[in-house]
Amino acid sequence: MTKRLSCDAVVVGAGMVGAACALYAARAGLDVALVDRGPVAGGTTGAGEGNLLVSDKGRGPELELALLSGRLWAELAAEPGLGAAVEYEAKGGVVVAATPEGLAALESFAVGQRAAGVTAMPVAGGQLADLEPHIAPGLAGGVHYPQDAQVMPSLAAAHLVRLARAAGASLHTGTAVTEVLRTAGGAVRGVRTDRGDIHSPVVVNAAGTWGSELAALAGVNLPVLPRRGFVLVTEPLPRMVHHKVYAADYVADVASDSAALQTSPVVEGTAAGPVLIGASRERVGFDRSFSLPVVRALAAGATRLFPFLAQVRAMRSYVGFRPYLPDHLPAIGPDPRAPGLFHACGHEGAGIGLATGTGHLIAQVLAEKTPDLDLAPFRPDRFLAKDAL
Ligand SMILES: Cc1cc2nc3c(=O)[nH]c(=O)nc-3n(C[C@H](O)[C@H](O)[C@H](O)COP(=O)(O)OP(=O)(O)OC[C@H]3O[C@@H](n4cnc5c(N)ncnc54)[C@H](O)[C@@H]3O)c2cc1C
Repeated sequence: MTKRLSCDAVVVGAGMVGAACALYAARAGLDVALVDRGPVAGGTTGAGEGNLLVSDKGRGPELELALLSGRLWAELAAEPGLGAAVEYEAKGGVVVAATPEGLAALESFAVGQRAAGVTAMPVAGGQLADLEPHIAPGLAGGVHYPQDAQVMPSLAAAHLVRLARAAGASLHTGTAVTEVLRTAGGAVRGVRTDRGDIHSPVVVNAAGTWGSELAALAGVNLPVLPRRGFVLVTEPLPRMVHHKVYAADYVADVASDSAALQTSPVVEGTAAGPVLIGASRERVGFDRSFSLPVVRALAAGATRLFPFLAQVRAMRSYVGFRPYLPDHLPAIGPDPRAPGLFHACGHEGAGIGLATGTGHLIAQVLAEKTPDLDLAPFRPDRFLAKDAL
């Protein structure tokens, strides 16, 4: 039986997004219970990368959220000891194009981004080596995004949970939510878990890829689906890759609705030494089986960008399931279909980056303040029942 029986808000899911919701809500003065059926960061947060990107987002609500989140990440990283603890690096991103046509498309994408406040600096092909000395020769050029940054996701979630607890939140790991309790009038009144009930007028669905199941427990439809991705991890190296570097076709892959396999090269160094190589995307349910063709495609793409990687050993690969919503935008905010239910899930391949803004906005709404961003594009009830199929 859980020790804590009532609170102001139950946050379900102790991944990156739930950790940020718990932190900002606790700092706003709410009595928060953070619940996860597993450990902290045991879901997709522990199975992805930690890029905090503006570079891959076109002008619109997701970019606004990324810019807000980037500012909040920088603020958190400036708190004593926290930046180093979560391996925060404001290292910038470089998006490259192999052909003049690809470069022209990149440039036109950057025009809208600049209008939204993104710093996007053109880099001629001959100057790419000034930013990345080991990059392949002969690329047409690229765009440098100094606002892109990185954290180590599991550490980041763990430290945000630590700070949330310091602000008064309670943590209940190994506690599965099995039911969302509702009043006769339909309002939320807490959760039933396998370790007892927690009473609360507010339940925040931060269950990531399982956000659809949690929504269903509250009787509402939210069509979150898993979008599988592999990451290939090299042996530790001295710093050879300085930015997040990826090919222009990555942006199209992220925006694609196809269920079929897509791979585009994404390469980055880490503070710990290994180089992380992505990115694959496919919708194959929760199939965790290893795929040699996918990992081969990742390796081939990475060596095209950084030929020295052909001589480097891969240590391991891992797989995760991005929480995918059909329009590629997360669900953030109150659910009018179940008063007291709030959603903070469906961030697909950007949930680490977007977690801080999401947590901040959820805390603002819970504290009955006007949120810094218009939540209309993120409305959880924007999908039709058929989207769940
Ligand atoms: C290969 C790959 C690379 C990625 N790279 C990046 C990147 O570079 N940058 C970026 O921003 N994002 C990246 N992502 C995406 C990012 O990892 C996710 O968007 C993010 O982790 C989602 O966090 P979350 O907290 O919403 O979900 P999760 O981390 O999955 O947390 C949800 C939690 O809810 C819990 N839960 C579910 N149901 C219940 C229940 N009934 N009761 C109790 N607990 C429950 C689960 O146990 C889980 O811990 C990547 C993802 C993958 C797969």
